[in-house]
Amino acid sequence: MALLGYAAFPKKVNAAPPGTFTIFDVRHSLPRFAGAASPGRCVQLQRKGRYRINFDFTYSHHSLRKLVFKLHVKFSMKKFILVFVLFIAGLLVYFSLGSAVTKNIDTYIYDLPFAPGAKHKVVQGYGGLFSHKHKAALDFDMPVGTPVFAAREGEVYTFKDDSDEGGPFPKYEKKANYIIIKHSDGSFGCYWHLKHNGVLVKHGRVIKGQLLGYSGRTGFVLWPHLHFAVKRQLNYDKDSFVRTKFKTTSGIKLLKSGDTYEKPSK
Ligand SMILES: [Zn+2]
Repeated sequence: MALLGYAAFPKKVNAAPPGTFTIFDVRHSLPRFAGAASPGRCVQLQRKGRYRINFDFTYSHHSLRKLVFKLHVKFSMKKFILVFVLFIAGLLVYFSLGSAVTKNIDTYIYDLPFAPGAKHKVVQGYGGLFSHKHKAALDFDMPVGTPVFAAREGEVYTFKDDSDEGGPFPKYEKKANYIIIKHSDGSFGCYWHLKHNGVLVKHGRVIKGQLLGYSGRTGFVLWPHLHFAVKRQLNYDKDSFVRTKFKTTSGIKLLKSGDTYEKPSK
């Protein structure tokens, strides 16, 4: 059966001159049909140009044995870009949908965990599907080395700052540096992905607005940011988290992904 192919390079259409093709295994060019197509029937272009190629091609696979069909193979940069853009748009829509998170909302009004007068964008909000599925956590976009301030007073519960590793895969999860502050109501403020040796306060009490350390990109991260969450218990159960209101220059609010918030300079 005929399988029609185009190798779409520049616009000019060339007659396929003899001697410019190499016969090779069809499995090479059509990996989806690996093992299913009979080898030795396909051709590979040796020269740039636009060609129209007819292949003789038989597809047989399991119960579809001896099934023969026609396949059009086309490659066009415009279509590739369109598909790529749609794919990225699809990913963005998917990640913006989010997942269900706790209904708990803290009554305490938190400070934004960065410097007075500074503003940062929330790049992943509550329930974000990249790494916040069912977690009421916030990711603030910030370059490595940005000062991180206590959002609420409390006591240093634990910290880690000996890691210098991070990356976009869950295997890096345990490589995150962090500091956890225990609040007076028993909840925990969790500040994640701090830079190597980026924890300044390692024990004792901290006051609201105190410099705790510096942000980084350690652990499971796509890009440098500060991950902030408040939990009633230190596990990943949906209702261990609590959503928190922050004091911003535009009022007291729960934060949303995609929005930028400025911390009042007092
Ligand atoms: Zn996060």
